[in-house]
Amino acid sequence: MAPRKRTAASRKTSQSNQPSEPAKFGIQHFFERHLSQASASASTQNPKPDPISDPQSSPKSKSESDLSTTDQVPPPDESKVDDGFSEISPEASKRAPPKRFKFSPGMIIKQSQDDGGDVVTWKVSPVNERLRSLASKHLPRTTRVFAEATEMSGSILQSCSETISESPSTFTMSKLKSWLSSKPDLENNDGLKESQSPFRTPPSLPYSSIALKADVNGGAGLVEHQKDLMTLLDQVKDAIVEESGEEMEESDTMACSLNHTFVQENTKNESTLSMNGLPKQKFSNALPNETYLVLEVSEKHKGEESSCGRHPFKILRLLNEQSGTERALYLYDEWFHSPVAPGNTVNVIGEFNDKGKCIVDCTKNLLIVHPDVLISGTRVASSFTCSRRAVLDERLKVSESSISALIGTLLHQVFQEGLITRLPSKHYLEEHAKQILQKNLESLYACGANEKDILSSLIEVIPQMLAWFTSFMEESENSSIDFGQFEEPKVVSVNETIDIEEMAWAPRYGLKGMIDASLNVRIQSSNGVTHERVLPLEFKTGKGTTGRAAAEHAAQVILYTLLMSERYLKNNIDMGLIYYLRTNQTVGIKVQRSDLVGLVMRRNELASEILKASTAQSFPPMLQSATICTGCRHLNACGIYHKANGGNSASSGLGGIFDNLVNHLTPAHCNFLKLWDRLIDLEAQTIQVTKKEIWRPSSRQEKSAGSISSLVLDTRNDFSVESSGKCDRYIYQFVRQKLELDSDDSSMDILEFSFKRGDCVVLSTESGRIAVATGVIKDISRLHVSVSLSRRLRLPGSELSQERELLGQEMWRIDKDEFTSSYGIMRFNLVQLFFQNSRSLHLRKLIVDLQAPRFESGGLLSQDPAISYVRSEMSLNDDQRRSIHRILAARDYALILGMPGTGKTHTMAHAVKALLIRGASVLLTSFTNSAVDNLLLKLKSENIDFIRIGRIEAVHHEIREHCFSGTNAQSLNEIKQRMESVQVVGVTCLAINHPLLTNKKFDVCIMDEAGQITLPVSLGPLMFASKFVLVGDHYQLPPLVQSTEARENGMGISLFWRLSEAHPNAISALQCQYRMCTGIMELSNSLIYGNRLRCGSTQVALAKLDFCTKRSKHPWLNQILDPDKPAIFVNTDKLPALEERENKAVNNPAEAHMVSQAVADLINRGINEEEVGVITPYNSQATLIKQLLISSVEVHTIDRYQGRDKDCVVVSFVRSTSGDSRANSSLLGDWHRINVVLTRAKKKLIMIGSQKTLSRVPLLKLLIEKIDALGGVVHVTKKDIQYLKMLKKCSQTDAC
Ligand code: SF4
Repeated sequence: MAPRKRTAASRKTSQSNQPSEPAKFGIQHFFERHLSQASASASTQNPKPDPISDPQSSPKSKSESDLSTTDQVPPPDESKVDDGFSEISPEASKRAPPKRFKFSPGMIIKQSQDDGGDVVTWKVSPVNERLRSLASKHLPRTTRVFAEATEMSGSILQSCSETISESPSTFTMSKLKSWLSSKPDLENNDGLKESQSPFRTPPSLPYSSIALKADVNGGAGLVEHQKDLMTLLDQVKDAIVEESGEEMEESDTMACSLNHTFVQENTKNESTLSMNGLPKQKFSNALPNETYLVLEVSEKHKGEESSCGRHPFKILRLLNEQSGTERALYLYDEWFHSPVAPGNTVNVIGEFNDKGKCIVDCTKNLLIVHPDVLISGTRVASSFTCSRRAVLDERLKVSESSISALIGTLLHQVFQEGLITRLPSKHYLEEHAKQILQKNLESLYACGANEKDILSSLIEVIPQMLAWFTSFMEESENSSIDFGQFEEPKVVSVNETIDIEEMAWAPRYGLKGMIDASLNVRIQSSNGVTHERVLPLEFKTGKGTTGRAAAEHAAQVILYTLLMSERYLKNNIDMGLIYYLRTNQTVGIKVQRSDLVGLVMRRNELASEILKASTAQSFPPMLQSATICTGCRHLNACGIYHKANGGNSASSGLGGIFDNLVNHLTPAHCNFLKLWDRLIDLEAQTIQVTKKEIWRPSSRQEKSAGSISSLVLDTRNDFSVESSGKCDRYIYQFVRQKLELDSDDSSMDILEFSFKRGDCVVLSTESGRIAVATGVIKDISRLHVSVSLSRRLRLPGSELSQERELLGQEMWRIDKDEFTSSYGIMRFNLVQLFFQNSRSLHLRKLIVDLQAPRFESGGLLSQDPAISYVRSEMSLNDDQRRSIHRILAARDYALILGMPGTGKTHTMAHAVKALLIRGASVLLTSFTNSAVDNLLLKLKSENIDFIRIGRIEAVHHEIREHCFSGTNAQSLNEIKQRMESVQVVGVTCLAINHPLLTNKKFDVCIMDEAGQITLPVSLGPLMFASKFVLVGDHYQLPPLVQSTEARENGMGISLFWRLSEAHPNAISALQCQYRMCTGIMELSNSLIYGNRLRCGSTQVALAKLDFCTKRSKHPWLNQILDPDKPAIFVNTDKLPALEERENKAVNNPAEAHMVSQAVADLINRGINEEEVGVITPYNSQATLIKQLLISSVEVHTIDRYQGRDKDCVVVSFVRSTSGDSRANSSLLGDWHRINVVLTRAKKKLIMIGSQKTLSRVPLLKLLIEKIDALGGVVHVTKKDIQYLKMLKKCSQTDAC
């Protein structure tokens, strides 16, 4: 059954653009178009129409005869672009093979990786669009009330207990109105009226009146989505009915069976509840609570017969997806307003009785909606002011540097050092402040701070900190803390600082956070009773110590108590401390149930808003408060999104301010933004799925490419400490527990395939402690993983003396910590493109409006010393000179098409030299660290000075001396001088917001491997330069996009591709290659590059493998190793060599054996194993081949081989079926990938596969025909290989 998540229109667009071959098989066509378009563009400077705003006019949608004509730009057809999925480029879905979708109900969108089949299994998220409760509809008003709290007075806050004490008749529309218009008084001396909860929730309203209203931000389509959702749920329901009909019957009657008896039934267990109405958890290393799928939400009213009115409540029918059992959850009081709908995932903090029922009301239990959306406590707290801002905070990674924020950060570090040291001396802290300053010089540089001023700001508060340490670390009367009106003051003294900056994840509550300090304290009440507690301490250095700020701080601490109770597996963490440095005041926070409920409900609403933003790009409405909005860091982005979603100055509430921010935006701009925002979200969802596996019990038993389980800490050697730049790193080594017992376990290869040095990882225990620490992989082999941590590894709450023993007892799991922040960077790059400033305007014209790039005329350049240098540089060939001239002449941008082996890096190094002669500054960038370092290594060999910015562990060891952290700059002046004098800086695209680059502008940005970088990632570095050069080859692999839907809708289109298609005349091609001999070059030349490639020298053209005289005893091997035949195709059709499938993996054992034979013979005949490589499309085949090889020859997938070359490459195509072929829709259907296969070998290319199966892919058919014409096809028979035991067995049993 096809998924319904895409519209018919989008499917049509996608399918109509799905040729799996390059048009006319290759670049020849591209060059033809290039020439015709170049001549057309010579006659007019009209920009090409933007295929986003006008898909009909995209070049590939025209017939060839149309291409020579000048395009008229039609007005944008908004009916076609409004869905946000207009064709971004004519090639947008070219690579998309036809897919047959198999529908399986589940919670989160997830499609399988292409594993070689043509079946993609989708787990469709029914949470795309959902009903939202009135509470969230009215939230902006609510939050405005809260936000403006400091200016308001005279009204009454409604606490949870007050809500329930009111008669049912008070829950009316008029009550809601008055509640919304109420003005809470938060402005007494303590910031809050203590008897009232600031984290209140709205009174009840009938559900039906709120559910289906659309708002300006995109509520439309809700009903459609809901229909789909309900169909899905029907299917789920049907399945459940089949499995457990009896339970269903009972459940169906549940909604009607509620009465007060039931309420009493549930309150019987009160003794098992903590003071905050949460069940006392049995912490026995249990995994987080099971989650539930909401099958049905119904509304009822208590007291329908009553004369005093109706009292609404909700009943949720829940499905435990792990056990398949059903439950009923009753939501009373304010919980009625929970934003929960069928299809949502929820977690219930409460126990179900033996009838499967549980009540959540103002006295007990909690409902967590979308628990997999982990939201920081800070974010929840700040969302009371503006939930739109909280959503934007979650989505956009904005790099900000301000002196006040920096001082705050540094003060935290000084205070935390004091906590750890326990009663430090003044001198010690002052010295430490100097060290901290030294470690943060880069941040000081970023915000233009003065070293001395900052130091004195730190030193002047040290006496105050010392006084705090004395008060609270040595018991004194000053350590009496007020915990609010419900608690008497208590004397608190700190026994131990357990941790600082402790990262905590609590999927059970859908929360995460970084706790300033985790303390073990002794608390003494006035009656002399003392007890020990673990609690969070928040350290506040800002001005806000009362009113809204204080309420936010209290909220943060309350949520941290939940986090800590999970992390420390303790029930009694219900207190926290806030220390305000500015007022020298320490405030105690005792968690009140009413506050907790309000905060968890806000968290639930925020989770729904964040999910809605990521699935429908729809945000909470604008606050409409000029006072708050003009001081908001997101004002620009907020306004732009508002306009893109159809808002105007009236709906923004900002009048002229709004107009000034967004009046320059055209409909095409808005569509571009919406499209790419959507694509980024689709891609980000794949990471969310991976990330969720860290804490999902259902996934913990499965083998995942993103995790390694069953690891034990190697306690034979203690951890080691290494100095990395200015910080110490702690190195721990883990080994596979089952290694010796199960040494042929193929999952061990996951270690090598999925993880690599420099990967960020999360350490958890198999017993259920999630995210105990995060670190970076330092070293990895089949036998071990070494992880580098920023602090010592310790199980939360464990005694230091037992640390080693306890760590050694645990079974560990390592998960990849995929950077969700990358998507925040991408979104911010994108929205920045639409800001109202000159740099964004320039880029917008070039990238969105596709304005033609400008070039200097030859005359202006004739006297240029840089040109003279290029002319005189003997190591450059004509193509390379032309390309550098093009770069020098570019006023906007230049595109360098670097075909395989054409000396791109060499050319770029000389282009940099030429630019430096001109006095230009250059930013060198690429997506990967290795690509940046590759270029920098070349510059180093040319004695060009540069700075490398990046994590030192991820930088090539020969480049590390160029990193700032490696140079140990001693002063701010030193950094300033260095940054001002250096002309070349190398950095990856995603690290571009490094503090050292905050104020840096460059004349030119050169981006290498640009064909493999997605457009939003590319935008970041371009913002830093006046013009740019993109270097790449879009005929090799495009950007890696994991989401099929994002890929099909254009995310695989790099900026390089977009600009190349729009302005082929901006391309300068490097065509003279120095890698492949003629026979190998001919293949890609005829199939892909339209005979544009040339061998750079006779030596390259005639290169052959240098065999020793020894010959193989097997004739078929002698045939394929014939040095006079550089390209060989070994046809396996006469063998029992069919592909095999295990789960989703596909491999071909017969081919694997043949590859190992060929490799063994190559080495036998004198070829160095380092000069042999094996390529295959599938990981599973690569694993199989590795197991068979006796040498250490490199075996990789095609995707990992891009950018590498070897003298001899052996290829195993794998796909071989007796019936209908699936190869066309598999990885082999992508001609980019085939091009990579054809362009890796220098002297010998041996391809093994089924001619019959592969010939169903037109490009591969042409390839085999071409090789056949050159006499290179070898048909291997059973007789040839009957000496291979495995194949003989297959032949006899016909099992293969
Ligand atoms: S500009 Fe105003 S509405 Fe927009 S996020 Fe900021 S505070 Fe909220």
